[in-house]
Formats: sequence, C-alpha cells, structure tokens
Amino acid sequence: MNTANTSSGLLNTVTGPIGIDELGVTLMHEHVMIGYPGWEADSLRPGPRREEMLAVATDRIQQMQSRGVQSMLDPCPNDLGRDVEFSAELSAATGFNIICATGLYKEEEGGKPYWHFRGQFGPVVDAMAELFIHELTVGIGATDIKAGIIKVASGKGVVTDYERDILQAAALASNATGAPITTHTDSGTMGDEQQRLLVAAGVPAHKIIIGHSCGTADHDYHVNLLEKGSYLGFDRFGIDVVYPDAERVRSLAALLNKQWQQQIVVSHDSVWCWRGEPIPAAVSAGMGETIFNPTHFHDHIIPQLLAAGVSQSQIDTMLVDNPRRFFAGTAPVAP
Ligand SMILES: [Zn+2]
Repeated sequence: MNTANTSSGLLNTVTGPIGIDELGVTLMHEHVMIGYPGWEADSLRPGPRREEMLAVATDRIQQMQSRGVQSMLDPCPNDLGRDVEFSAELSAATGFNIICATGLYKEEEGGKPYWHFRGQFGPVVDAMAELFIHELTVGIGATDIKAGIIKVASGKGVVTDYERDILQAAALASNATGAPITTHTDSGTMGDEQQRLLVAAGVPAHKIIIGHSCGTADHDYHVNLLEKGSYLGFDRFGIDVVYPDAERVRSLAALLNKQWQQQIVVSHDSVWCWRGEPIPAAVSAGMGETIFNPTHFHDHIIPQLLAAGVSQSQIDTMLVDNPRRFFAGTAPVAP
C-alpha cells in the first residue's frame, strides 16, 4: 500500500511527498482556515473570498518564514471547513510545506449529523476508516492530494460514543497505513483516555500526539502521558483567552527541566481565515494581541523559556527533531 508515512522516509504534503528530513523547523498545529459545520448554510455571510484568504495566508506564511519556519501541520479535520486545494495553491506559491489531515472533529462542534444518519443503517466505524485510508493513500475527494496524519478529537471530561467510533476508525486507518494520529483535547482532559483507547486498538504510543495538552498545568497528567510514550502538543500559545500563556510556559519549563524535550511539539492553533462570519473585531480585540499569531512562539515564548532555564538545544529538539522523528515513526528516547 502507498502509505502516508513509512520507513521510506517520505511524508505526504499538500503538494506531494517530501523527504522527512526536509521538514526543518515545523509548527505542528496551525490552521489556514476553519469553518464550523453549518457555515456553508449561512449564505448571507460566506466569509472572505478566495483571493482575500490567499493574501492573508500568504502573509502569515511569509511572517513564519522570516523566523525560519519551513513547514506546518494543518490538522483541520474533514468536517471543519478543510480545503486542501487551497492549501496546495498556497504551499506552491510560498514554497512552504503544509501537511494536511484526514479525520473528524469532536461531537459538540463536528459533523456528527451525517454519521448519525448513516449509523441508522449500519455501523459507521468501518466507513470512517475506509474514508481515512482513502484520503491517506489515494487522495482527498477528486484530487490526488493525500493526508499525512489522522485527526481525532474529544470534548471536555468525556469521550462520547461518537468520538469513540472516530478513535476506533483512526486506529484502523493508522494500523493499515502507518499514518500517525494527532488529537484535540479540551481543558487538558481525556488525553489519557484517548491514549488508552488508541494504544489498546494497536497504535504505538509514539505515533500519537495528545494535542492541546497545554490546556492544563497538571504535571502528573503530562508525565503520565509521556511515560506511556506519546507526544504532548503544547500547541495553543497565544490563546490566553482559553488558558494563560504564563501557565503554559511554566508547565512546559517544568517538563523540559526533567528532560522530556524529545516528546513535546509546539504550535499556536492559530486560525487565519474564518469561513462564514468571522469573529467580530471588537471581540477579537478583547482576546489579546497574541492570539492566532503563528510567530508568537518565536517572538515571545522562546525568550520566556530561555529565561526559565530551558536550553536552545531543547527548543530546537521540539521544533526540528521531534516532528521529523514523529513522522518517521521512530520511538523517542525517554529521559
Ligand atoms: Zn486546531
């Protein structure tokens, strides 16, 4: 099978496969665009035009490139306004690597109604897995653009039956293709349950990033996930409105002081374009200046980490070595 990532050393990007060693400095969770399911029904507010989105996204990428960033993972699931042809055009125009995902979002804000409808006529896990595998190995929709990773999600405090189906399907697809998995968690909860379910279904722990783990400062929760072998996503820097950066920095520094740098990836979960009605300017102004800024880690967080005793080499490990090792499917070396 033409797998999404293998020992061949190749990785699918939106413009085709690249050598994993070509990734360079990589942010592991940024979004070109998001549209919550139902956005397409708001015909009064279709959101920015394609050319407008291209201008915004090109500017963001050039800002990242000026800080030395060469690649990013856009883990937009299928049901959150994903447009891989747009990403391919953007990537080709900027010379910036973008890895896209296959997968489905959490029950509360994802495309559940469709799968609920299908579920009346038979189990959906196999159908979801078939979709994920096709997108990883053949192409997304009518394109030959292949996903490089599988995205799954759960909400705060519970993994619902629907989310459990998605996790099972993701495990089937990962086992069939070798593709790794990245997750969404809320408020630093249920990462342990995601890890338990995926590992029980045969996915090696080091092929899983437990995303948004910086949504809690619970050191024991973090270390438990790390000891079992998965990666933590400290991937919401700048979203102070959800959880303060000061806590993210403090808990990341605590983990790095214990030499866990091989199992942490960093990012912002920035969203550059909103399909449908965007966040009103007055509201977004109240969210602070750092939100959705994909250079915030380089400009503001790295200095804070250095001041907290973290070494530049640990920062380089998180930005360069870990994305490469994760996509290569090689287990990290625990401290
Ligand atoms: Zn995200």
